[in-house]
Amino acid sequence: MSRFSRDRQRLTADPGEKNRRPLRLYVEAPLAVGSAVALDQAQAHYLTNVMRRRVGDPVALFNGIDGEWFARIGDIRPGRGGMLEVESRARPQIAEPDIWLMMAPVKRVPIDLITVKATELGASLLWPVITQHAVVQRVNLRRMRANAVEAAEQCRRLSVPACRSPTALAEALEGWPAERILLVCDERGGNEMIHQVLTRSKAESWAIMVGPEGGFTDEEFALLRGLPQCRFAGLGPRILRAETAAIAALACWQSIHGDWRENPPPSKS
Ligand code: SAM
Repeated sequence: MSRFSRDRQRLTADPGEKNRRPLRLYVEAPLAVGSAVALDQAQAHYLTNVMRRRVGDPVALFNGIDGEWFARIGDIRPGRGGMLEVESRARPQIAEPDIWLMMAPVKRVPIDLITVKATELGASLLWPVITQHAVVQRVNLRRMRANAVEAAEQCRRLSVPACRSPTALAEALEGWPAERILLVCDERGGNEMIHQVLTRSKAESWAIMVGPEGGFTDEEFALLRGLPQCRFAGLGPRILRAETAAIAALACWQSIHGDWRENPPPSKS
């Protein structure tokens, strides 16, 4: 069993789960009435050995395009694979908030935490950005994607955020989309506070950027200042760890520009 499967097992195995609501699974296959979705070996292992599901049990499926669907396990063979039979649509796909999170790569535990929390908070894209003070230069994108999928399944989101490869800051700013505001979290003071920056603009497309533990360099601040879409914002009087700043900024954005006027779907969906 892979490390990811073990993590998933530790986080989700819950004997009461079976009675509460259908398990949710992210799949890449198209979803429609009567379609069959193949399960790979890892998914079959997860459903049978971890979640104790059997042929005939319900599963909720989403693929980020077709909404959420009720399905049943039609065939399953631990260690080999299986098949889900799609029955009916539970929820249509909805447009989700357009908010990117750009963060300097941090160590493994904080990057896992940021990935899970940003997914729960509705980020549409997770984009590691390499800065001069970054202590970590590489990101395990497979692990990031697996954490994002698992968090999306658990929080009842209808999509999984895209995970982009780490990119140098200057390169990330090249060809920046004209209509997308880049909100840079800046702890140095002298800026507007985040709620002021957020309420002053009606833009629909945003990116939040958080620096590394050592902060941005003067050169990087100058580079960012040169981007017309860039806005610097403060998050209060305390120096936050990068992961706290990312989570706090996303929460502020969701409450002003995002979907925090809606409630979660009913738990039986
Ligand atoms: N270099 C800083 C220092 O040692 O004083 C600390 C950087 S902080 C740990 C990491 C990142 O979190 C910063 O680059 C910034 O993006 C964000 N951040 C932390 N506290 C913040 C605050 N109070 N306001 C805005 N951004 C903050």
